[in-house]
Amino acid sequence: MAIAAAAQHSTLDVKTLREDFPILKQRIHGKPLVYLDNSATTQKPKAVLDALHHYYFEQNANVHRGVHTLSGRATDLYDAARITAQRFLNAADPREIVYVRGTTEGINLVAQTWGRANIGKGDEMVLTEMEHHSNIVPWHILAQEKGARIRAVPLTPSGELRLDELEKLLNERTKIVAVTHVSNVLGTVNPIADIVRMAKKRGITVLIDGAQAVAHTAVDVQALGCDFYAFSAHKIFGPTGIGVLYGRAALLEAMPVYQGGGGMIGRVAFGNITYADLPYKYEAGTPNIAGAIGMGAALEYVMAIGLDRIAAYEQELLAYATQRLSAVPGLRLTGTAAHKAAVLSFVLEDVHPHDVGTILDREGVAIRAGHHCCQPLMGHLGVPATARASFALYNTRDEVDVLVKALGKVHEVFA
Ligand code: PLP
Repeated sequence: MAIAAAAQHSTLDVKTLREDFPILKQRIHGKPLVYLDNSATTQKPKAVLDALHHYYFEQNANVHRGVHTLSGRATDLYDAARITAQRFLNAADPREIVYVRGTTEGINLVAQTWGRANIGKGDEMVLTEMEHHSNIVPWHILAQEKGARIRAVPLTPSGELRLDELEKLLNERTKIVAVTHVSNVLGTVNPIADIVRMAKKRGITVLIDGAQAVAHTAVDVQALGCDFYAFSAHKIFGPTGIGVLYGRAALLEAMPVYQGGGGMIGRVAFGNITYADLPYKYEAGTPNIAGAIGMGAALEYVMAIGLDRIAAYEQELLAYATQRLSAVPGLRLTGTAAHKAAVLSFVLEDVHPHDVGTILDREGVAIRAGHHCCQPLMGHLGVPATARASFALYNTRDEVDVLVKALGKVHEVFA
């Protein structure tokens, strides 16, 4: 595993860790790249790039159907990555790890299979005001089809879920609670174990959108007690186009199939088809083999460093960045929850977030500006868009200083 040796010590030696990420060395508009768009996607360490390269150079073959050596090798690597994902989430069984394209596909899979089988006219689905469109639209499609209703848990002014309101929303018509673990805009880390407990008291199914959580906090699906947990590899230093849907085996077994095709069948005759066992029943067609292997390498990379150490480092960085940004004239932070991941969304008085993003780019600083696929949340915040700096394990205090200095340029331009 190509992890910088210094990363093995108790505090992160970020300077050495950064050597694992070749892309960070480049200059943008003549300035050193300061990459603060990690909530959109993370950069990839050499361990992941090497795994992809090695796979395509030496191991490429289709999985499961071959008797030849390369197919055996590819299958072994592909299966090993599933075991890695199981270990990463502390799932009870590798059969509970379904490969999907990412969080979005994972949630759509649950809505279209479990949802279509279990949600009917007049039923309710409880989401929250901070959900990403990926955790709204699939439920909306289902609600339209079935005549069901979506309810949304409101937020406190600091961007925390109103658990008292959640309690009031849960009733005998509620069939699912679908909630994000960490907000991609506010950074709020939601009290998932508490939410699961509240839902489970009433026998309600719970899906967690883990897209923004996995790179920043250790996840244990058994301790959380959720039924489904979805994440994307690209948000945790892995490739795009691959992710995981965790589902409790009993639920996955009972659910109808999703897409049909090769690899997901037991036996096929016209008019009579049986389906494969878990998890293959949900994995129709040639899968993203390289992606799964790259994701396995990314998860191993993160686990070798230790999510607790990553979280501790990012919390220090968050505290520093919050203090520095709060002192920028005219800047208002959106999202000040007590328990936050290292995401800072903000608006600058009288300057459109897109202008902020464009001016920062000229300084080499990559942030995101827009609605962040959270239009209902933007409505709640009363803004059309925010600027967002989101941090990962390779970001530094020096980079926060560069961000703050670059925000000074925005003031100069708009003075
Ligand atoms: N959920 C949240 C909270 C996200 O931030 C994102 C992506 O930004 C998604 C879901 C969707 O992830 P993907 O596009 O990888 O499927």
